[in-house]
Amino acid sequence: MEKTTDVLLLTTNSSEKQDTVCIFGTGDFGRSLGLEMLQCGYSIVFGSQNPQMSSLLPNGAEVLSYSEAAQKSDIIIIAIHREHYDFLTELTEALNGKILVDVSNNLKIKQYPQSNAEYLAQLVPGAHVVKAFNTISAWALQSRALDASRQAIAKKESPFSTSTAWLSDSYIAMGMLGFFLFVLLGITSLPSVSNMVNWREFRFVQSKLGYLTLILCTAHTLVYGGKRFLSPSSLVWYLPSAYVIALIIPCTVLVIKFILILPCIDKTLTRIRKGWERNPKFSESALNGKTDI
Ligand code: NAP
Repeated sequence: MEKTTDVLLLTTNSSEKQDTVCIFGTGDFGRSLGLEMLQCGYSIVFGSQNPQMSSLLPNGAEVLSYSEAAQKSDIIIIAIHREHYDFLTELTEALNGKILVDVSNNLKIKQYPQSNAEYLAQLVPGAHVVKAFNTISAWALQSRALDASRQAIAKKESPFSTSTAWLSDSYIAMGMLGFFLFVLLGITSLPSVSNMVNWREFRFVQSKLGYLTLILCTAHTLVYGGKRFLSPSSLVWYLPSAYVIALIIPCTVLVIKFILILPCIDKTLTRIRKGWERNPKFSESALNGKTDI
């Protein structure tokens, strides 16, 4: 009877079905590697001492005896400790011409005179032995710390995609620069510092650099949203994400500022600031307490 876990029902998402790979051993490492390979589209057949008792196997994997499993694939991953390799001598015929992948590590350096792969090649002379996967831990496979490459392949997107790199680099650069300017603005607001600069300098820092800081920080958040900004798929219960809500006020301020610096409006505003009035007569009489009704 083949037992499976609910947790492992997530297996399955590659449409491309690839070769069958056999894994000897249903221990931690064999199961973890089997799950990852299933997700990459490979069919997995486990070889076990006791197929009836094997448990926690990834959904979709088959489990057979070692000799039966060996028939199913040309590639066999030996996820067994070196100390238990002896039984492979009984399978030399079934393993003849197959590729055996040795994943084993020893507990100590120079524990044995020969390497584990050499030992395996000696036990099964008719097979082609290769060493692989021994630097990856079962924990890393299970905790999905190595997912990046798998996801990149599934999306058919290069992990070194320039558009993605550009987005993440800009996100970090604008965030750092914006934060630096933000701190600068805070420091120049301190009375002890602002007393030391003249009005023009103070105005430049508070106004021009202030807007630059706002632009950088807003762009930083916009880039964070990237392609999923306002995308319906990123909405949880049709509610906008926190970063979208955080953008409402800064974007409104920037849009209003942009309108105000349009030459036609800016010119009028500058004149008003300098004391220009549309109807000087009216204001004069208002000042004198009279009205021209
Ligand atoms: P494990 O959990 O102890 O599993 C070893 C499996 O070997 C057992 O589940 C058993 O599976 C099989 N086996 C065959 N003959 C056996 C025998 N006589 N006595 C006991 N078990 C026997 O070990 P593991 O952590 O998966 O490690 C397997 C191999 O991967 C080792 O060589 C290890 O060095 C290597 N490795 C492990 C990790 C890791 O993070 N765990 C990382 C890199 C490399 P059946 O009952 O189904 O036959």
